[in-house]
Amino acid sequence: MHNSSGDYTTKSGYAQARLKLSKKANKMQANERSSARNDDPTLWHQVWDLNIKHKLKHFLWKCLHNILPTNEEVHRRTCKGDKWCKCCGEEVETLEHLFFNCKAREEAWKTFPIKWDGIQESSWNFWKWWEALQSARCRVNGISHIEATTNFLWQLWKARNVCNFNKESTKGNLISSRALEEWLEYKQMWDLEKRESKKDDPEVPTMTITEELQDQHVILMFTDATMDKKRSRGGLGIATKDHNGKLVKTWAIPTGMMKDAAILEAEAIRSAMLKALEEGWTSLLIHSDCKCLVDRFNHRCIGLSLLDVLVDDIVHLSRSF
Ligand SMILES: [Zn+2]
Repeated sequence: MHNSSGDYTTKSGYAQARLKLSKKANKMQANERSSARNDDPTLWHQVWDLNIKHKLKHFLWKCLHNILPTNEEVHRRTCKGDKWCKCCGEEVETLEHLFFNCKAREEAWKTFPIKWDGIQESSWNFWKWWEALQSARCRVNGISHIEATTNFLWQLWKARNVCNFNKESTKGNLISSRALEEWLEYKQMWDLEKRESKKDDPEVPTMTITEELQDQHVILMFTDATMDKKRSRGGLGIATKDHNGKLVKTWAIPTGMMKDAAILEAEAIRSAMLKALEEGWTSLLIHSDCKCLVDRFNHRCIGLSLLDVLVDDIVHLSRSF
């Protein structure tokens, strides 16, 4: 093996071997992409149906067509520039490298509360990985998790751009919390709009979000809980808005133990109430889409289970508002 000046070095040998492997993988990726693209039109419908910002749909579309301007893609098209990853300097920057394999993004994946453990073997090809991700559609909150993950991929791309063009690194936990904030903000804005549009429907009860919000001091709180059974970990997302619908604050809280959905949601609500007390808010309106928990509040029973204790705690805390 020789480097560009013709001298043999261990380093140049390693780089050549790595380049060869990488070329082989890229060729496989290109073949897989072109065949997969032809036989799955439903994937496009799934992308356009996601409840995410339009710019994110466009971003996904570019990823799935492999036309996002990664260093490798720019080099392939123009024969100019350096195709290596500027964030870690260790591999050619393909789409798959920058999202899944770059060392500089490890921390972001670790701190992102939604885990996709079963699909790592597909991470050598973005299309395959995205396809595998769609299996989550049939489970509770699965589509929401796909939407949150799209926000996360977008933030990974933004962090990559900051690294590429400004030579600045972005902390992993910042990438994941920005993704969650952006996702929750959009999700809640959409929920608010949906409720607003129902105002015109005579079948809907007259109590609407705008009437609730006539109290200018009220803070609207939205919670969302996710869990990862394999890793026995979960995450809580809390977002707050003022009476104008303006985002006030968001929190992303990782949780340790595996719990059922109602317990995780109850914990999210209790954490949200504690945060509200810390902030000195006196009027709070919490929205939860966890039906089993809402039922629990409506038909309370005395019990000693963790959920009973949490429900009691929440009722107790609610007296502070
Ligand atoms: Zn890298």
